[in-house]
Amino acid sequence: MASGRVDLDGNPINPMTICMIGAGGFIGSHLCEKLLAETPHTILAVDVYNDKIKHLLEPSGGGATSSWADRIQFHRLNIKNDSRLEGLIKMADLTVNLAAICTPADYNTRPLDTIYSNFIDALPVVKYCSENGKRLIHFSTCEVYGKTIGCFLPKDSPLRQDPEYFVLKEDASPCIFGPIDKQRWSYACAKQLIERLIYAEGAENGLEFTIVRPFNWIGPRMDFIPGIDGPSEGVPRVLACFSNNLLRREPLKLVDGGESQRTFVYIKDAIEAVLLMIENPARANSHIFNVGNPNNEVTVRQLAEMMTQVYTKVSGESPIESPTIDVSSKEFYGEGYDDSDKRIPDMTIINRQLGWNPKTSLWDLLESTLTYQHRTYAEAVKKATSKPLAS
Ligand code: NAD
Ligand code: UDP
Repeated sequence: MASGRVDLDGNPINPMTICMIGAGGFIGSHLCEKLLAETPHTILAVDVYNDKIKHLLEPSGGGATSSWADRIQFHRLNIKNDSRLEGLIKMADLTVNLAAICTPADYNTRPLDTIYSNFIDALPVVKYCSENGKRLIHFSTCEVYGKTIGCFLPKDSPLRQDPEYFVLKEDASPCIFGPIDKQRWSYACAKQLIERLIYAEGAENGLEFTIVRPFNWIGPRMDFIPGIDGPSEGVPRVLACFSNNLLRREPLKLVDGGESQRTFVYIKDAIEAVLLMIENPARANSHIFNVGNPNNEVTVRQLAEMMTQVYTKVSGESPIESPTIDVSSKEFYGEGYDDSDKRIPDMTIINRQLGWNPKTSLWDLLESTLTYQHRTYAEAVKKATSKPLAS
């Protein structure tokens, strides 16, 4: 039965069943919302947690006029050790694998968990898809590029300005990681090996696959605010670290001077790209896609300054006297941390195959995200930080 939707080549799209592993996380929650709101597809949502998709599972999800709950089924399972996984993959037309340990604070402090999660635990997913002739969209990372070639050039070399030395291309750039004792690279290396395995399954056994390399997707529901909806000692990714600092009126911590550069893309733009991949298999299969926004490049220091300005606007609070402080990476992350210097995605392949382009500027995406953070967390943080009265 056709859905009324057509793909990029004008062919009707049939409703499909999607097994989404890691559906309860940041990206998964936005992808579930998008699929339920705009398509007729059905989701088998697999995760150990469902807090971020609870609102979709309730019978009233989808508003007064329609319920989404009959098109999403939550399966609480750990893909490490659950025999139900193969059955779910067999029931689906397509599997999207998002499950991973993917916060940098874990890479050097829990390298074994990081490698097992990103390589060993993903193996059965690839195997079941390959053996059962099912399509797989696997989430990798821009971190597989590691460092740029440019960062090894002398500081004053004019070649540093040449995009050949820093723009990251799926089919041309090398993957450059640091030495083994820099355990930061445990994540990138595990992701690279699973990419190579998926690619080999495609080449040797005909697996239909797409690999996604997200470049710093950010937005509402990313990670957690320490001590509020996550562990108090936990270190989330930079967006939630800085939001947490702003909500608590603490200085934002710049690791090693905040000189690293990142390009940030709004989650809602990025999810459009994933939907195009889901609904255009003929254009997406056998491809690796960078998904990011090359126009939104900043240093981490500039990100801190912009988030401070945006937060002042959305909260109505004046900034604190010293809005940032410098910390060493050893102090912040511990031994074995290292960093990607610069991450600019080349967009040629995703443009050619799917015609996708990001739309949202960094200022606008921070404004909508910090409005959400302030509305969701400000009261809870205020309560948690208010000192009990002395007796
Ligand atoms: P997230 O941590 O919010 O989501 C991951 C989800 O996977 C979590 O809900 C977690 O509970 C689940 N999960 C982990 N291990 C599991 C297991 N063994 N069994 C069942 N569920 C398990 O992370 P995210 O930001 O949504 O990232 C999703 C994917 O995208 C990851 O593979 C990550 O490496 C990749 N990625 C994301 C970004 C980004 O910008 N957000 C950047 C690069 C790569
Ligand atoms: N960072 C920082 N202060 C923080 C958290 C992160 O300066 O409180 C830096 C981190 O060292 C890195 C960048 O911000 O250079 C982005 O970190 P994130 O955790 O988002 O992940 P990454 O982009 O490295 O995968």
